[in-house]
Amino acid sequence: ADPYNVVTDVQEQWPSPPSGSEVVPRAQRVRSSALITAKQWVLASRPDGQPTVENFRFEEVELPELSDGQILVENTFASVDPYMRGRMNDVKSYIEPFQIDEPLTGTAVGVVAESRSNKFKTGDTVRHFAGWRTHAVLNEDQAEQIDTSLAPAEAYLGILGQTGLTAYVGLTAVGEMREGDVVFISGAAGAVGSAAGQIAKHLGAAKVIGSAGSPEKVDYLTGIGFDEAFNYKDGDVNGQLAKAAPDGVDVYFDNVGGDHLEAAIQNANTFGRIAMCGAIAQYNDTEPAPGPRNLGLSIGKCLTLRGFVVGQYTHLAKEFQEKIAPLIVDESIKYASTVREGIENMPNAFLELFEGGNTGKMIVKF
Ligand code: NAP
Repeated sequence: ADPYNVVTDVQEQWPSPPSGSEVVPRAQRVRSSALITAKQWVLASRPDGQPTVENFRFEEVELPELSDGQILVENTFASVDPYMRGRMNDVKSYIEPFQIDEPLTGTAVGVVAESRSNKFKTGDTVRHFAGWRTHAVLNEDQAEQIDTSLAPAEAYLGILGQTGLTAYVGLTAVGEMREGDVVFISGAAGAVGSAAGQIAKHLGAAKVIGSAGSPEKVDYLTGIGFDEAFNYKDGDVNGQLAKAAPDGVDVYFDNVGGDHLEAAIQNANTFGRIAMCGAIAQYNDTEPAPGPRNLGLSIGKCLTLRGFVVGQYTHLAKEFQEKIAPLIVDESIKYASTVREGIENMPNAFLELFEGGNTGKMIVKF
């Protein structure tokens, strides 16, 4: 087996994860031996603009007995991600919306507490999509084993999972990055951004520039190998980028949208490429955000602006495992986790993403 086979099979199912109700059916039967009560977060209401903790509700449910082929998982870590904001809206998208009064879902890591599957034994550490809850009853094909001797469990929720793959495909398949390119990355101190910057260096970028929202994050970026970094909250993103990239930008990895996208178009070189990964500055807007005012420059500069979701690029997971995962495991590529304690703090950890509370991947430890 490939020791770096760390990008999930469950990823292959992305973006069509099992729905919450399939993962943890409402208890119909009481467990005869040991009754397990799970705590879980459900969507209480849909936000209008910025979400609040009132949009979430914490509740207890009794889990059903295991059937053949099922496992009971006790979650230890769960991921909160910006894309979950989109799932709070009742809109058709690349991933199904959360449903009112139904448990939320997302990537989590846990330990098998009980098994009626030949695939898993008690004590195995697994990754799956039934986050936002303390325990989950899963079919054996809804979980995959992870090797915590290679990297800690948190890494499998971030750089050794969807985060790392997003960074890699955004730079390569989408941004068509080449050796010698000048690369600009926004949201650079976050999970995807910090991975993308380091991967760009490994792929031979001439210069990697990052923007982030505090002086501490700017220091963090230069510490992990970004050539230049600036604090967008100092203002004049366009001017700060122009100063950092006097020779222009060849690839822009966009996590933010808005003024950052406009600045990247302004500073792009001819045949520049823009990988549109996220637009977090706009996720809580109540009205559609206006497009970049200078979009017309894309014509004369022959730019490519290309959006993507990682779920459409899972065929590159193997390539990521072979080329990038070993660099993570041997720590040539570094990652940070911001860990918040306690499932009861999960909505707050999620909301912090929109205030820049995290450096690296935001994770909740149960
Ligand atoms: P993250 O960057 O770890 O966390 C979000 C960060 O965004 C915050 O730490 C904050 O950092 C920054 N931010 C929040 N509001 C902002 C604003 N108004 N303007 C500028 N920056 C703001 O999250 P992630 O998981 O790595 O995701 C990064 C982006 O990639 C998101 O847009 C996400 O939706 C997207 N994404 C896309 C895919 C895909 O398949 N296309 C997959 C994963 C993630 P500061 O302190 O720097 O403001």
